[in-house]
Amino acid sequence: MAQLTDDCFAFGGPLLAIDDVERLIAERVTPVAETEDAALADADGRVLAADLVAPVDLPPFDNSAVDGFAVRHADLGKGETRLAVVDRLTAGSASSRSVASGEVICIFTGAPMPHGADTVFMQEDVRVEGPAVIVPPGLKRGANRRLAGEDVKRGSIALPAGRRLQPQDLGMAAALGLRTLAVRRRVRVAIFSTGDEIVEPGAPLPAAGLYDANRRLLATMLSRLGAQVTDLGILRDDAGALAARLADAARGHDLVLTSGGVSTGEADYVRAAVEAAGKLVFWRIAIKPGRPVAMGVIRGTAFVGLPGNPVAVFVTFARVVRPLLLRLAGASPEPLIAFPVTSGFAYRKKKGRREYVRVSLTRRDDGSYVATKHPQDGAGVISSLTATDGLAELADDVTEIAPGATIGFLPYALLVG
Ligand code: AMP
Ligand code: MG
Repeated sequence: MAQLTDDCFAFGGPLLAIDDVERLIAERVTPVAETEDAALADADGRVLAADLVAPVDLPPFDNSAVDGFAVRHADLGKGETRLAVVDRLTAGSASSRSVASGEVICIFTGAPMPHGADTVFMQEDVRVEGPAVIVPPGLKRGANRRLAGEDVKRGSIALPAGRRLQPQDLGMAAALGLRTLAVRRRVRVAIFSTGDEIVEPGAPLPAAGLYDANRRLLATMLSRLGAQVTDLGILRDDAGALAARLADAARGHDLVLTSGGVSTGEADYVRAAVEAAGKLVFWRIAIKPGRPVAMGVIRGTAFVGLPGNPVAVFVTFARVVRPLLLRLAGASPEPLIAFPVTSGFAYRKKKGRREYVRVSLTRRDDGSYVATKHPQDGAGVISSLTATDGLAELADDVTEIAPGATIGFLPYALLVG
């Protein structure tokens, strides 16, 4: 386990800015230490445990980038030059002879450069006349030739430790001839929902019941981030039972994550349960939506108690759990970069907190994008997440947005990947 100290989330201020959340996580949370070898087929999204040092050059040999004719650049004149075709080289065949002065070799993309040749004419740029080709003047020396190692040099770092492996990274590893990669083990996360009203989907819905949206939302976001999820179901609003279940869950997991029961209502027992089972630090994060987020450590395992409303869950997951999870996973920091778009709405907000507004994008004739705010603001309105494209991120110090202003846009694809 990534063993945390009880006071690792301790923080003295009244309201924690999002930037400080990320800084505290980076400074105080230690990544899981264990590593394993993953086959490339199973390595998508895993975190590279060590720098990947290239065992070979890429490309492995000098070769042609086009279908055409390999020449000696020194042979080329100021006008057209007539050269004799002496051989034909396809990809996969080794060059059998060199190109002497006055000669060319017909070559195909990926075939090794023959000795003597240093430049390749594209076939569409030359005239073939019987056993000869007429090439035009003006081609640069080395044109259409790919040098060994020009992509990746043998011995260089092809991919750095901490990289969350993407499809193109796995393509790179395969190109270097590898079948497995050393990765960190998956972060183990236990999830609960809390609330007497919360009901398992598929079960009959009682009069005052609400189907559990958050566990599915959280489990899916966690899996996409490469975590190994243990689903521990729905917990009733009962302080004693909660404390026991949280303490149990802490064993064998790196993170225990709950939703609901962290505000100050009568039936909000998660805080007390964490205090009983471990150490609670209550973070008042300067973020909307997302009421206070409970952070804590239970027997060396990180605990995060998210709010109950699904939209608040989504936003606080993206801004608190995601960086925490990536840090536990040993991934390099991945700042969320908001893209500039034009606001199509007017908005007022409090200074000193970051706000996330659910928006849809439309493309204008000039190619720019306008963000339209979803009409329903409520943190429980799930359709406001399914009917929009992403979140407009309004900076901490901003108090007012006028239509036409440039605002930052975070597409959902970025937040859940
Ligand atoms: P709480 O913080 O427990 O008071 O929850 C705030 C709101 O979110 C309440 O309306 C709850 O019914 C709702 N809620 C809590 N947990 C879930 C869940 N797992 N799925 C959907 N809604 C929930
Ligand atoms: Mg509740």
